[in-house]
Amino acid sequence: MQDSYGRNIDYLRISVTDRCNLRCRYCMPEAGVEPMRHEEILRLEEVLTLCRSFAALGIRKFKITGGEPLVRWNVVPFIEKLKALPGVEQVTLTTNGLELAAALPALQRCRLDGINLSLDTLQPEVFRRLTRRDGLEKALYALELAADSGIPLKINCVPIQGINEQELPQIAELARERVRAVRFIELMPIGLAGQFQAVPAEQIRERLAAAFGPLRPVNVQLGNGPAHYYAVDGWSGKIGFIEALSHCFCRQCNRLRLTADGMLKLCLAHDDGVDLKTPLRSGMSEQQLTEMIRRAVLAKPAHHAFSEHPEETEGNNMFRIGG
Ligand code: SAM
Ligand code: SF4
Repeated sequence: MQDSYGRNIDYLRISVTDRCNLRCRYCMPEAGVEPMRHEEILRLEEVLTLCRSFAALGIRKFKITGGEPLVRWNVVPFIEKLKALPGVEQVTLTTNGLELAAALPALQRCRLDGINLSLDTLQPEVFRRLTRRDGLEKALYALELAADSGIPLKINCVPIQGINEQELPQIAELARERVRAVRFIELMPIGLAGQFQAVPAEQIRERLAAAFGPLRPVNVQLGNGPAHYYAVDGWSGKIGFIEALSHCFCRQCNRLRLTADGMLKLCLAHDDGVDLKTPLRSGMSEQQLTEMIRRAVLAKPAHHAFSEHPEETEGNNMFRIGG
């Protein structure tokens, strides 16, 4: 459907849990945050009911995220059911990879359309420092299996000054032949991320060009996001950059977000949302829910407010919103 600024809204990111098996310092605190209570979290059947309404409104592409989506029990059968809903064209998954190896055969069977594997470092020490957990070996093992699984695989990396900036060329090199794309995602000043500094994309491009030769801009769309891509001679995969802050892409924004506790978020950078759980649980019909979502989408903000109105910027941390 179109929002009131004429944007075609066809993509929903669904956070299925606020739990995670890592504690990335820019995303989730080690402790001290009340996890959502189980009864607050939508049951996966409830999420499917909402998805029927979203699909009826023309949402065609769905991303399953979290927290870590693969720690949610029964998420793979949920993906299978979501894929079977009328109107659903694409279901993809964002994961840190720790539980991916075990889930891969079932994800292949249900013909998942894509995996984004978040990987900020290739060094065990840095991984431990950044995520406060062990797990790099598991993530890299899953990467190898996923690369051979036939499911399109992209790597997402958040470059952070003083953390992983020295190893960005090695991470980029995964696109030489192993994965479809390595995307560098600009750190957004949400919640805990405010204490870190992003590495400017221009600087990354210069470093990569010095290491691998010229980066040629290419006009390809490799996902639902606003990444712009570059090719490197001799590489089968592309290098992507997603710069929400320095290159505002709000005019092309096609997305909505559903949090694990049933809030529809119209913009990542606005604190507010529309509660869908209460009407859903109080017995509102699917048709009425669809109408409620339609009205909400018409109120989607024109753009984020990261720089002009920091007070409007999402005070939550990313693990609650799903990235
Ligand atoms: N746990 C899964 C994962 O890590 O892929 C899914 C949820 S995680 C919130 C989704 C993505 O958001 C990850 O790639 C993570 O690096 C990214 N992310 C978290 N906080 C961010 C921030 N402040 N700015 C940019 N990306 C962020
Ligand atoms: Fe967990 Fe993903 Fe957040 Fe890291 S980025 S803490 S893996 S939700």
